[in-house]
This record gives sequence, structure tokens and C-alpha cells, in this order.
Amino acid sequence: MFTSSHLTILESSSLTDSELLLINSCDDIGLLLQSMTQKRIRNLPGKYKYLLFFSNHFRLIVAFSFLVSSYLDGCNRACQMKYLEENPGFVYSKAEDGIFCLPGVLFATKDNLSQFVCNKINVWSKKSVKFAAHNSKQYHSIALSIIDALKSSMIHPEFSIESHLTSK
Ligand SMILES: [Zn+2]
Repeated sequence: MFTSSHLTILESSSLTDSELLLINSCDDIGLLLQSMTQKRIRNLPGKYKYLLFFSNHFRLIVAFSFLVSSYLDGCNRACQMKYLEENPGFVYSKAEDGIFCLPGVLFATKDNLSQFVCNKINVWSKKSVKFAAHNSKQYHSIALSIIDALKSSMIHPEFSIESHLTSK
């Protein structure tokens, strides 16, 4: 269960012009994380997170060619489309050549967030274990719930996120 404390803290006015420009044009969360901490990103006003999640972030097409990002056990390994298909909400960052949990980057509120949130995954050995470990975290479930709440509040603006939260 999440509370309104998971929602926005920063006012738009406290963002610098270059941050606003970056956020408004950002189609790659890995690129944004190079310039802003996850803590700052998760404190952005909801409208920017909505933009980042629902409209701006690129989603891969089937024919995308992944970089070969690691060499392990005598094999070159690269990200595969099925990792993303099997794990909704995760996105591939071209800038970082790795996978991030986009709901996690935008909404996870916990210290010591690491794999998929503050750090990409791009070592593909034991990836099923890594995905399963992340997907079982409470902060991941909360982040997914917030995405759903945000989605319904945008589709049905008469129900704000706040009222959605308090009705739970
Ligand atoms: Zn997550």
C-alpha cells in the first residue's frame, strides 16, 4: 500500500531550466540518471513523471539491435527483447546499454536502491534471478501501483491521485 507521501515533493519552480529541458525531451531514463539522482527524479512533480513514463520514453521495436554488453563464459552476451516482454515496466536504456525498472526509477522511495533503479542491469548471467529478486520487492509493487493510479487519474481526471489514494 502506498500513501500520498510517495507523491510529488518538488515544485516545478525548483527545477533548473536545463533540468526542465532535459526532462521534457528525455526519451531515455539512463540518460536522465546521468544528470539527476534517482532521489531527485522520484521527487519530480507527477506531470513530469507521467510524461517520462507514458509519452516520452522510447519503447523498443522488435528489430532493435542490442549492443553486445558483456563477455562471459566465452560468450558475448547482449540484452534480449524477451527480457523486456517478460518483465513489464522495465525499459532498455540506449545511453547506458542496460535495463532499468522505469516505475522504480520514478517512484521507488527507499534508501540503498540499486539494481534496476539506480544502477542498470547489463550483465545477463543469472538475469532471471535478478528480475525475480527485484520483482519481489515491496518498493517495486508500490511503484507499479502508483503507475496504475497515475494512469487512471489521467484517464479520469475527475478522480485525482489523492482521491484515488484515500479511497483505498
Ligand atoms: Zn521495479
